Amino acid sequence: KLYNQVQDLKGNIRVYCRVRPFLPGQPNSLSTVDHLDDGNITITTPSKYGKEGKKSFTFNKVFGPSGTQEEVFADTQPLIRSVLDGYNVCIFAYGQTGSGKTHTMTGPSDLTKETLGVNYRALSDLFNISEQRKDVISYDISVQMVEIYNEQVRDLLTPDGVNKKVEIRNSSQKGFNVPDANLFPVTSTSDVLNLMNLGHKNRAVGATAMNDRSSRSHSCLTVHVQGKNMTSGTILRGSMHLVDLAGSERVDKSEVLGDRLKEATHINKSLSALGDVIASLAQKNSHVPYRNSKLTQLLQDSLGGQAKTLMFVHISPELNAVGETLCTLKFAERVS
Ligand code: ADP
Ligand code: MG
Repeated sequence: KLYNQVQDLKGNIRVYCRVRPFLPGQPNSLSTVDHLDDGNITITTPSKYGKEGKKSFTFNKVFGPSGTQEEVFADTQPLIRSVLDGYNVCIFAYGQTGSGKTHTMTGPSDLTKETLGVNYRALSDLFNISEQRKDVISYDISVQMVEIYNEQVRDLLTPDGVNKKVEIRNSSQKGFNVPDANLFPVTSTSDVLNLMNLGHKNRAVGATAMNDRSSRSHSCLTVHVQGKNMTSGTILRGSMHLVDLAGSERVDKSEVLGDRLKEATHINKSLSALGDVIASLAQKNSHVPYRNSKLTQLLQDSLGGQAKTLMFVHISPELNAVGETLCTLKFAERVS
């Protein structure tokens, strides 16, 4: 049954669009979303914010503002399960700052059972299924968490809070990996919550020096799965990268200077490198430009080939966000 679910996923790249609800305090505001259904979304631009008109986009799935964490996860589940069958999976959260990327992946800061994000639910699912299969396959699950900031990779799972710089290596046995980043075996969802908390705490350390660094770095939670078949002794390996990307908003380069300009340039470069890689995979090009950013180098083995990719693109409903919203949806259209 599991195998069939995996086979049902058409193609290896899927794009889901998620619209954030209005935040408390702005309940009756007008939205840029003119219309949405299961797979289509139409955005309206009022004349005040650009060329007046409507534009429609089609994706594998569109979640409206009332879409719950549970509903979003239900459509993600088959992909996650394929990790236990030895697939490499990448899940990305893309969108401008404030559009809901961290909400989808991690959840809000005041987490409840209902608001838990994809990361926690994914790991919880992996534990449940590995438990069900334990008489046939014995699984080892371990996690790493790194951030990429200004084209440098740093370990986020450092108990001493020093986000050590680490390098991406390529070995014939393990492919692209970061051997110097701490790797923690996990056996329960509470192990995962503890590590995620550590990662978030460490990501926040940078934030005091450079305000809100989290929106200007990519964070990547990597889950490594190794399964040993109890009868044949065969080993299978799968991995999952859960990536909360840096904010995709464009900055006016004539208005920012110094560190901020450097950050913006790096973010821009890595997000376009990611777009180029996924677009060339979607078009089945023979050359895939993995080497243009740290992000695409890190994920090289999990993008393309048999690997499965899911991109959540997030949009904000506010009228004054319509410019970024259209940019986000155009990016998403290009990679789907
Ligand atoms: P980003 O990570 O893209 O910068 P956040 O995930 O931090 O954005 O979301 C911005 C704010 O909106 C947060 O307060 C978050 O809790 C809230 N939010 C985002 N998406 C949703 C959603 N689907 N439902 C309810 N609140 C949301
Ligand atoms: Mg965020």
